[in-house]
Amino acid sequence: MKGNKLLNRQQNKFLLYNISAILALFLLLGLIVVVAIETFFYDEADKVLLSSQDSLLSNKGPAVKFNPRVSYLLYDEEKVLFYADIPDFVNYSGLAAPEDQQRIYNRNLDGFNYRILEFKFVENNSGTEFYGRILINIDGEIGLRNTIVTIYFTVLGAVIILMLVTSYLLSIVTMRPVKKAMEAQALFVSDASHELRTPLTVLHSRLEQMLAHPDKKIIDKSEEISDCLSEVMRLTKLTDSLLTLSKSDADKLLPEMSEFDVLEAINKVALPYAETAATQKKEFIINGSPCIITADRKKIMQVLIILLDNALKYTDSGDKIKITVLQIKNKCAITVADTGIGISEDGLTKIFQRFYRDDASRGKAEGNGLGLAIAKQIIEEEHKGSIYARINTPKGTKFTVLLPCEDKTGAQNKT
Ligand code: ADP
Repeated sequence: MKGNKLLNRQQNKFLLYNISAILALFLLLGLIVVVAIETFFYDEADKVLLSSQDSLLSNKGPAVKFNPRVSYLLYDEEKVLFYADIPDFVNYSGLAAPEDQQRIYNRNLDGFNYRILEFKFVENNSGTEFYGRILINIDGEIGLRNTIVTIYFTVLGAVIILMLVTSYLLSIVTMRPVKKAMEAQALFVSDASHELRTPLTVLHSRLEQMLAHPDKKIIDKSEEISDCLSEVMRLTKLTDSLLTLSKSDADKLLPEMSEFDVLEAINKVALPYAETAATQKKEFIINGSPCIITADRKKIMQVLIILLDNALKYTDSGDKIKITVLQIKNKCAITVADTGIGISEDGLTKIFQRFYRDDASRGKAEGNGLGLAIAKQIIEEEHKGSIYARINTPKGTKFTVLLPCEDKTGAQNKT
């Protein structure tokens, strides 16, 4: 699916960004650690070099050698070497003549790493000049730094692999609900288009039929016109339902909460249904006791209309429709039971899905399979209640809506 490809690409991008950010952070941290280690080691080496220089100059010659790691090279005013106190295996012949400026630098002498202090000295009394180089071996420091860097990058590699795996797993987990929502959305759009196509096809063919005989009067074409009207009504109902669902999906419909008695509201809303039932020779009963809830009255009535519409649609003459309102502790239970065609076992688990229609009902009455999906959204998403359907005894279907309400009996018992 195209949406899935897009999501996978998004998931990979997200993974790449994550890894790059972590890698950049680790590299920066590594750089800071290396610079800090080097600065620390060089500071220590420089201190030794400078104190060796002090010691050398205060003794007026390279007599005092207080650190075995330190070596000396002294040059006369012509920059010619006249004194060397350095292990024999160190090849210092590659060193150029000392400069006039005092400076400290690193140099590799035939595989040995040295930090070198170079200086020029003028004796106050005699005015004689000489140049000096004090060298300290820093192989230990460099070795330690290299070991630390190796350990750091080995750990970094392991951490990156670990992060890669966890990031990948995490991205799968976080993307799963998004993928599901996208798939549901795609299915919804395709179902909706399918539902829209049927009335549009009927409208198209009826209008074409009428156009084929432009000389005919409206009265002659009343059947086609009536077909068109009923398809337009079907389209209006369908688009209204789609709009309600999409607004509800986008959380654009804020419930307008008020306190009201469910039994009293049902008595009002059910009046036209009782009349229709009577004309269709169906028994229609409302009973129960008052139940005060805080909810969006219009929406709860919309749910009842959906249930009553269905009860009338899916029953035959002689059948019975019974509505009951009861308060059970802190729940208001509304049941709509009928002795109609009933729903299959499989259908009972699917009727709240968008566009689902049970096989038995297809030939029986028109519908688009959106009513119960809207009812579920209103009751469960917007009112934190529950709605479900069961097989009615002896036959038919029984819908139950449970809505939260104040447990007055419990409160009275306590006082
Ligand atoms: P519609 O009735 O427009 O098809 P609904 O979402 O209201 O859409 O209902 C979904 C399906 O549930 C119906 O198509 C029908 O198969 C089944 N159904 C709902 N109410 C009843 C009922 N009272 N008796 C039998 N089947 C029902």
